[in-house]
Amino acid sequence: MTDLLRDDDVAAFLAGLGVPGIVDVHVHFLPENVLRKVWGYFDQAQEHYGMPWPVHYRLPEADRVAVLEKLGVTTFAPLVYPHRPGMARWLTEWVTEFAAATLGAVPTATFFPEPDVADYLGATVEDGARIAKVHVQVGGFDPRDPLLTPAWGLLAEAGVPVVVHCGHGPRRGAHTGLDVFAEVLRAHPRLRAVIAHAGLPDFDSALGLLVAHPSSVIDTTMVGTPFTEAFAPLPRDWAPRLADVADRVVFGSDFPNIPYAYAEQVRVVAGWAAADDRLGEPFLRSVLHDAPARLLGLPAW
Ligand SMILES: [Zn+2]
Repeated sequence: MTDLLRDDDVAAFLAGLGVPGIVDVHVHFLPENVLRKVWGYFDQAQEHYGMPWPVHYRLPEADRVAVLEKLGVTTFAPLVYPHRPGMARWLTEWVTEFAAATLGAVPTATFFPEPDVADYLGATVEDGARIAKVHVQVGGFDPRDPLLTPAWGLLAEAGVPVVVHCGHGPRRGAHTGLDVFAEVLRAHPRLRAVIAHAGLPDFDSALGLLVAHPSSVIDTTMVGTPFTEAFAPLPRDWAPRLADVADRVVFGSDFPNIPYAYAEQVRVVAGWAAADDRLGEPFLRSVLHDAPARLLGLPAW
């Protein structure tokens, strides 16, 4: 069945599995003018990434929200991230309003190494942000920048998780690399890091990092899809190795900026679940719903 899974089938698939819906920790919503620039970037993907990247859900905002609802995504984290200083506060304010007005969206935050980071991030956390996001390559900053020390510290203190895109894929940055981010985790051992894209392409390092840092998890975003397998294939023994960290894998999709249908990611995770007896449907239920719901602090159902 999962071989044939299409977007239209996902809701029924979830019902059959006995989960109340997908909790997706890695979705993007942005102010219209920023989103247009991001889509423009993907239009030039051949130049930036050396491969085409046709955005599958290039739709008006309300239609994108409706697609998620129809898929059975009951809760999602709309993530924003800046590419320069002076932008994170504004983006966070925008996404806070978006989340308040949008069913299923949890409030999120972003930040950047800049003098007022603790001020705006602290206020947002105080106001109930459920999760934050940073993108080391797009931001072009060093996650070890001393200006960020109070930000990592206050997130660790508040127990607010942070999605960190710090791997070398799909494009290297001056400060990407799980080894670099591991230094942040050593300095802030209680930080609840969500290693975006399971560290793609350094999947081994990501699993190693989970072992060393029990508060951290990996997200599934784009991992194992035919699109990323073409340039960042998973280790052959990926599924068996997940058995040791089964409750620390959370569902993420990168909707809407993916070059394939959303159902692909669900199918891929179902494939991992089926590939090892220690995983199976309990693992699939955990990844799609229970583990991300726990991460976001959602009430038990
Ligand atoms: Zn993303």
